[in-house]
Amino acid sequence: MRSGIPDTASGTYRGRFAPSPTGPLHFGSLLTAMASYLEARRNAGEWLLRIDDIDPPREQPGAADAIIRALNRFGFRWDGEIRYQSRSLARYRDALNRLREEGIAYGCTCTRRDIAAVARSGPNGLIYPGTCRHGLPPGRRTRAWRIRCGVARIRFEDRFQGAIDVSLADTVGDFVIRRADGHIAYHLAAAVDDGSDGISHVVRGHDLLWCTPPQHYLQQQLGLRQPRCGHVPVVVASNGQKLSKQNLAPPVDDERPIMELWRVLDALRQQPPPQLQRESLTRLWEWALQNWQPERLQGLTTLPTP
Ligand code: GLU
Ligand code: ZN
Repeated sequence: MRSGIPDTASGTYRGRFAPSPTGPLHFGSLLTAMASYLEARRNAGEWLLRIDDIDPPREQPGAADAIIRALNRFGFRWDGEIRYQSRSLARYRDALNRLREEGIAYGCTCTRRDIAAVARSGPNGLIYPGTCRHGLPPGRRTRAWRIRCGVARIRFEDRFQGAIDVSLADTVGDFVIRRADGHIAYHLAAAVDDGSDGISHVVRGHDLLWCTPPQHYLQQQLGLRQPRCGHVPVVVASNGQKLSKQNLAPPVDDERPIMELWRVLDALRQQPPPQLQRESLTRLWEWALQNWQPERLQGLTTLPTP
């Protein structure tokens, strides 16, 4: 399917790390990268790098290259070429067209204000109230495209968080797959890429746990493979806020990869021996792979910054 990487036979592990180039790599994203890498390599699997660059309003010039350079310096080795979502737009448009032709996707004219006036809140913001589900009011034009969810329930066993069972109608409602500004929504792009790239396992931050049900639903509707998911705890600052590019978490220092990776292992509760900080990068990775104990993260949703 992609150059240099044959399709995985079922049973083979293929993971990925998919940063958005909205800023440099920070401690939280390095932790996610390391957890997903250790999971993949411990399962003798492949690990792909995908740059999720289809949200220009949020992107920062040079961030993709800075992330790639940092990952390289930290000693991550990915399989095959780096994928850029911006080069797969035709793939997402085909998926959108298919959902439209099948009547699963529909045009929505609502503004944020229209929705806020009538919607109830779900665990992750407002639940779309279905206003345009049966057609647009006369004289209004389509702004975004949404997908019909009906009474669909999504169940899966999360590698770190256990059994998840949610109703889409009670959590997100008919969610957006193409935004009002014309950009493809993250859920659609991620579902299409994970499915068509044969990703068998997704490891990402707990803040994205609520994204898995919509993405699995899209994969079901498009006949794509659903990866197994594992959501690792997110790193929070001392004020309890998640470290993120939005709240300007400081970038990791890629001139001191051993120290930063040691801190990540420590945050991941792997109890790295202190003397590992004085050894080589190769040795640090060997230790990390040999001693990786993902069960130490079981059920945790946050981790303090070390
Ligand atoms: N690109 C998304 C982000 O950086 C995450 C994608 C994913 O792991 O599904 O938040
Ligand atoms: Zn609407």
